[in-house]
Amino acid sequence: MQEKELTAYCGLYCADCIHFRNRHSKLAGQLKEELEKADFQSYTSVKSPFGSEFQHYDAFMEVLEALIRHSCSEGCRTGGGCSAEPCRVIVCCKEKGYEGCWECGDFKNCEKFEFLKPRCGDAVMHNLKEIRERGLEGWSRRRSPFYNWQE
Ligand code: SF4
Ligand code: SF4
Repeated sequence: MQEKELTAYCGLYCADCIHFRNRHSKLAGQLKEELEKADFQSYTSVKSPFGSEFQHYDAFMEVLEALIRHSCSEGCRTGGGCSAEPCRVIVCCKEKGYEGCWECGDFKNCEKFEFLKPRCGDAVMHNLKEIRERGLEGWSRRRSPFYNWQE
């Protein structure tokens, strides 16, 4: 995939995203299948001194389903959004005819990136400024780490 295809409208680099072509979504799907084959749900529904941890099985399945869903085989530019979910940033860029938010004079004050901040912090702003100032070509070599906990 080309650098531009992997550059999200918001300036994040999709190839760095934990959902992008990951293995854990597929493995989670396989685990779910195995658990269903074993009818593990019935096993956990019986109160027994053995395996009291399995009382949290429903919550575990909720997480497992989320792991299965959160997989992107393409970047959001071609795939339509994070894990193919609709994204207001993409909608806004398309309405304005922009290739990405770096073309928007107002990106520094835009509130549409708020939902990305808890995990991505300043990455969006760093990347958007980088692309706006120096262009798309080769920008990914100067990109910010995707997640707050990465260096
Ligand atoms: S779907 Fe939206 S928020 Fe997610 S990476 Fe793409 S443009 Fe950014
Ligand atoms: S207002 Fe500008 S910066 Fe905000 S989402 Fe739309 S195009 Fe991007």
